[in-house]
Amino acid sequence: MKSFVKITAGFLAVVIISAFISYSIAGFNIEKVKGFSVTDRGSTYQKLKWKSNQNVSGYKLYQRNVNSNEYTLIATVNSEKTTEFTVKDLDMESFYTFKICAFKSFLGYEKTGEFSKVVETFTLPRGENIEKVSEERVSSLTVSWTCGINCTGYEIEYALNDDFSDAKVIDIPKRTTLSYRIDNLQKGKTYNFRLRSYIAQGEDKFYSDYCESLSATVKAVADDVEIDETKPVIALTFDDGPDFSGASKRILDVLEKYNIRATFFTVGENAEKNPENIKRKVSLGCEIGNHTYDHSHYGSDVKKSDITKCSDVIQKITGSRPTVFRSTGGMTTQTIKNVCKKEGMSIYYWSIDTRDWESRNAKKIIKKAMTAKDGDIILMHDIYQSTADAVEKIVPRLLKKGYQFVTVSQLVKLKTDSAPVNGVQYMSGSKTK
Ligand code: ZN
Repeated sequence: MKSFVKITAGFLAVVIISAFISYSIAGFNIEKVKGFSVTDRGSTYQKLKWKSNQNVSGYKLYQRNVNSNEYTLIATVNSEKTTEFTVKDLDMESFYTFKICAFKSFLGYEKTGEFSKVVETFTLPRGENIEKVSEERVSSLTVSWTCGINCTGYEIEYALNDDFSDAKVIDIPKRTTLSYRIDNLQKGKTYNFRLRSYIAQGEDKFYSDYCESLSATVKAVADDVEIDETKPVIALTFDDGPDFSGASKRILDVLEKYNIRATFFTVGENAEKNPENIKRKVSLGCEIGNHTYDHSHYGSDVKKSDITKCSDVIQKITGSRPTVFRSTGGMTTQTIKNVCKKEGMSIYYWSIDTRDWESRNAKKIIKKAMTAKDGDIILMHDIYQSTADAVEKIVPRLLKKGYQFVTVSQLVKLKTDSAPVNGVQYMSGSKTK
């Protein structure tokens, strides 16, 4: 009986003390944690900080589960003074939500305060690698890379020097874009490339590290283009250039963009004044033809020297003598044919005259050019802006219709199954005149 009283008394004492402790701890006012924020982030971690509370035992950090939307306790910080915590082993390029509260514990009892505001954050992109830099065409390089998980976009840097101090930056604001062609690079030069991915949040961008850099050399001379003999072919020809108005350059930009070839019947005197233009034409795989030295004589007035002097100029610039010729005004005489035969040149008239020199009207030029059929030779001049305007439209439209562009020698070879004959004048791939 005595012992029962003792036990009961002891039990009562424990209950009373517990109730007291629990009551006193309940009486603590635990403030909501303030200043909860992200101070640093990486691709697999988040560094969180908050303001210290008074008279607490520590803090409890919770992370929201993306699927259930419920919060799980991920860390307990057992110190009032510790006000930062790094959450590690997170997934890359992922979004996370955290919240925190302070707690007070006393003899096994615990009370937690109100939760802080939630912090919505994300880990940095893992950073993608450049898979390759390819060099299919003159003056251009194409960069391709691996796809990010959740990033917003990519930034490509390219530079001639190794430390990227002169780098140019290209923004690719779409995760699913995985290659980009950079045009107008310096031929024969080696460029360095590197890439980083980013997550955009409002105005800010959060970047991955740069991938290892890769270098590639810009092609200086176009490779031969494979011609599909079952598909129609057309030869674009341009006379009288090069010019200094920029028209010739614009036409070359179009040829370069679409990686196609044309033939330029050059005036020797103009070539002498603009050898860089001729060199670019050669590098693009175009054919350089003879169109007399100064375009001052026609038909029977054309002297042998008008022809040979032009070939001399072309040889000096390109290293080889032209093998194709077009008469000034298309007026070919037997004498011209004889000279060309001796000089190793076939002669070219045309089957479609755009009359670009006359109309100077892009619409009219396009209309004429679009009547072209398989085997046609189209006459234009690379000295008019209106012709350049037209070429910008003609090339993609004819390509869309399934035409391939070839030089005049290639055209004759394809249509006659043999090399063009010197001294013979062709007016299309197969017709002579
Ligand atoms: Zn001419």
